[in-house]
Amino acid sequence: MAGLELKAVRKDFGPVSVIKGVDLSIADGELVVFVGPSGCGKSTLLRMIAGLETVSDGAIRIEGADVTHMPASDRGLAMVFQSYALYPHMSVYANMAFALENMGVAKPEIAKRVQRAAAMLRLTDYLDRKPGALSGGQRQRVAIGRAIVRDPKIFLFDEPLSNLDAELRVATRKELAALHAEIGGTMIYVTHDQVEAMTLADRIVVLNGGRIEQVGAPLDLYNRPDNLFVAGFIGSPR
Ligand code: ADP
Ligand code: MG
Repeated sequence: MAGLELKAVRKDFGPVSVIKGVDLSIADGELVVFVGPSGCGKSTLLRMIAGLETVSDGAIRIEGADVTHMPASDRGLAMVFQSYALYPHMSVYANMAFALENMGVAKPEIAKRVQRAAAMLRLTDYLDRKPGALSGGQRQRVAIGRAIVRDPKIFLFDEPLSNLDAELRVATRKELAALHAEIGGTMIYVTHDQVEAMTLADRIVVLNGGRIEQVGAPLDLYNRPDNLFVAGFIGSPR
């Protein structure tokens, strides 16, 4: 069974059609990257999957269940944004524990999950610090940690590295790949960066103007682009 299924998903903002009928099946445990130019609808599509944006038409299924109109909090997803608003007055530990406390998870279980995520993300020595005393890369890892502790069925990342400098972006990208290998969850990762897409993805979804141009493994898209847009965007000479 597919981890996530999109059936003819559309989004209109008033008279403007932003997502124009997207069909996509994502397998359990797959790391899929949505790539495409700014304004092509990547965030809108991700936000509909997350339940942060209503769906104008079509359906979204997670593990076979129709979640098209289900509230975000019931979907079993966790989303990491570009602007990773951490709570500045709370420690790293408290930032990671916060959502779990609100969900009523028992304290020992919270401690276990936070310690495990911190170890994965090399944050164990920073749990008592406030976000202001961390580097940009560490703050982004805390944001990822907040998602991990919730043990979601699906992780959604919206350009999580775009605020980091080039060197840190590469390092954090490698950590994300290692993380995916370790926890094996289904991940959807949005970026406008072709290199990020090529290095992270099991499969790449190339979006353009609210439609899918092509879906495939990175090397397939590189070697056999369906059209000039994909060739140009993925960077093969064609
Ligand atoms: P991307 O993430 O690929 O850069 P977005 O999904 O943010 O693209 O936006 C896709 C298109 O939808 C853009 O033209 C954007 O201006 C438009 N859009 C996004 N959100 C809204 C909104 N709330 N109201 C109207 N138009 C929107
Ligand atoms: Mg966006």
